[in-house]
Order: sequence, then structure tokens, then C-alpha cells
Amino acid sequence: MTFNELNLIAPILQALETEGYKVPTPIQEKAIPIVLAQKDLLGCAQTGTGKTAAFAIPILQLLDAQHAEKAPKRIKVLILTPTRELAIQIGESFTAYGRNLKQRYAVIFGGVPQGAQVQALNRGIDILVATPGRLLDLMSQGYIHLNDIGIFVLDEADRMLDMGFIHDVKRVVAKLPQKRQTLFFSATMPPEIQKLANTILVKPEMVAVTPPATTAELVGQSVYFVDKKDKRQLLHYVLNDASITRVLVFTRTKHGADKVVKDLHKVNITAEAIHGNKSQNARQRALTNFKDGRISVLVATDIAARGIDVDMLSHVINYEIPEVPETYVHRIGRTGRAGASGTAMSFCDGEEMADWRNILKVTAQNIPVIENHPYPLAAAGQVKINPPKNKEIVHRPNAVTGGAPRHNGNQRRRW
Ligand code: AMP
Repeated sequence: MTFNELNLIAPILQALETEGYKVPTPIQEKAIPIVLAQKDLLGCAQTGTGKTAAFAIPILQLLDAQHAEKAPKRIKVLILTPTRELAIQIGESFTAYGRNLKQRYAVIFGGVPQGAQVQALNRGIDILVATPGRLLDLMSQGYIHLNDIGIFVLDEADRMLDMGFIHDVKRVVAKLPQKRQTLFFSATMPPEIQKLANTILVKPEMVAVTPPATTAELVGQSVYFVDKKDKRQLLHYVLNDASITRVLVFTRTKHGADKVVKDLHKVNITAEAIHGNKSQNARQRALTNFKDGRISVLVATDIAARGIDVDMLSHVINYEIPEVPETYVHRIGRTGRAGASGTAMSFCDGEEMADWRNILKVTAQNIPVIENHPYPLAAAGQVKINPPKNKEIVHRPNAVTGGAPRHNGNQRRRW
């Protein structure tokens, strides 16, 4: 299917061409007609599937059609999303897809002074992208009224729950007009989220795409068994691989993230950390530097990395193995976006072995072990990982490092 067949208007088709999008992703193919038909939608999709465009494109088209009728400078669309990073990225998507249209939007989130956000609101906007806390705050100060909202998008509903925002979400929903179109997105559907969906959606159409394990199959995965004390050296070794252009390194803790950055600086590799202890400006700066290629290694904790949207992310490294298997799937989903192949490497030490086994079980995969590296686990002989039965090995030679990284003699790659 092409975007043309989705009955999109010329200014949007042109913008998609500028973006270099050739064909719609599965969620876009399914969701765009539903949204254009002004129906409620329950979308089961995670970041990386193209879900932002799946709602942003038809919303822009609907607004464009209404433009003549509706009063300008009133907020007509509200998108509620859990993190600042996601809010910014959604805003960027509206800029990109709406570049040839007149709709105005603003993005508001906490952790920064409110002045600039209030000014943007006062200039008059059609679309508001917001995190729940700052939205409620500005509503209580009288800067925002939701009386004219015709379309409400709840993005990453399950994350809202994880992050403790569910009550804030309900408070926002209570202020919305009853008559509206609601689009509800969640990667998973725990009972509380199902309940919320039932209360805020009216006769929704359901769209589900790419369950996490399938997304994981797009990514070439491998694991290095290594002693904890050798992970630092192994990271330097792996980063010498010339095919690594932009790598996201995951640690379990903020302290761990800072330590990895410090270690990399010692060997002249440019890296920055993003995590909750950094100011919003510092996080945004690090992300921009990473996107622009000024730094090649971004070190992140799970919360900070949620929804990071960077094109051409070639590699993800799990410097520490997450305790929760779903977190592993989310992490590696940061690469291999929208059909592109990526590589995910995991460094697993003796203490993390139980967590790793659990990941193999939950994802039902047999992830290749890289045996030929200079820092093997001292107790390697005792390590026994039983592959899940009757499962194909998910190993794409073109996407996986496939063995020890290549080295260019003693020449260090410049970052
Ligand atoms: P999302 O799931 O919304 O976070 O989108 C993931 C990534 O896919 C973003 O970098 C988008 O720019 C990109 N993307 C979305 N739709 C398409 C498409 N139809 N073709 C190519 N890339 C896309």
C-alpha cells in the first residue's frame, strides 16, 4: 500500500515525501483510515512502529478540513504523553508532517520554567502536546481550557500507569468534552489500562501491531558473557568496531550511566549520559548532540531512554542486563526502527545470568553467544544456557556483528 491510497491530501503527501517515507507502516495503514473516519481507536503498538505518524497525519488532515469552520486559536486536539522526550518528539512529528499546513501546535512539559510555554499558548494553538503534570498545572492557573477539544490522544497509556500518572490522566479526561474522538495507544494492555480504555473510548476500532517479540526479531542480537569487572574493557573493545556509528548504551542506574561515560572519556570516546538527575536542558542537549552525530555514544537509564527517537541508531548495548524481560524488548526496540535492521549486544555477568535466562524464556529466542572475545567470563565453563525448544535461531548474519568485532590494527576509531 502507498500513502496515496490512504486518501491523504497533497500537502501531507508532499511532507511525507520530504521526510523520505515511501510506504506506510502496518499501524499507519490500519489506523489512518479509522482516524479519518472520525472513529475512536484502541491501538496496541509500541514506539518504533510508526504510531506517532499513525495519529499525527490523520489529525492534521481532519484539522485542515475543519479549519474554515472552527474558531482559530482554540485548542482542538490534545495529545497526552508520559515523558518530556516523547512530547518533544511528537511535536517534531507535527512540524514535519504539517510543514505545508497552517496548524499551530505547542509542546508543554515539566522540569523547565513555564514562561515560554505560556507565551506559546497565548499566541493561540490548534494542537497541544503535553505531559500530565504540567498540563494540570497550567490548567489550574487558567492558561489552558479544554472545552474545545475535539480529538484526544492518550499515548503510551501503560507507561502512564508505570510512571504513576494514571490519576493525573483521569483528572484530565474528566475535563474533556464528552463529545470527542479518542485515540488510545498502549504497548501492553494490563487490566487497569483495559479498564481505562473501556471508560474513555466509545465503540472503538481495535488495531494491534507487532507484538514485542516480533519487533525483537528485526534486530540482530548477541550476548557476551563477561565478568563484571571486565565490562568496561569489553565496551572499549566492542566500540572499536568500525560499523558502530551511533550506539545507545543502557545501564540499570544513573550512577552506572555516569560511570560508563567517565570511563569512555578516559579512552577519548565522546559520550554523554541522559538520566533523571540531569536537567531537562542537559538531557535535550545530549540528545541533540547524539542526533547530530557530535557524540556517538549515548548512555541512558531505562526511564530516560523511553521513546528516544533517533533515526539510524545502528546499535544498542545492554551494558547491564535488565531485571524485567519486557525492558529488554523495549531497549532493543530502540534500534531496528520501522523495518530497518539493527544490532543489540548484551553484556551479561555471572550475577545477571538468572535475568538473562528469564529474557531468553520470555522472548522465546536463542540469542547467539559471542565466544570469541578477549574478556570471557572466568566461570564460563559452568555457564549453561539451554536454548528454548523448537524455536528458530534469531540470527541475521547481515544484522549481527556475528563474531568478534573487526579491528583496524591499532587504529582507534575517531568519535
Ligand atoms: P514512532 O513509532 O512513532 O516512534 O516512529 C518510529 C520511527 O519511524 C520514527 O523515526 C519515524 O520518523 C519513523 N517512521 C514513521 N513512519 C514511517 C514510514 N512510513 N516510513 C519510514 N519511517 C517512518
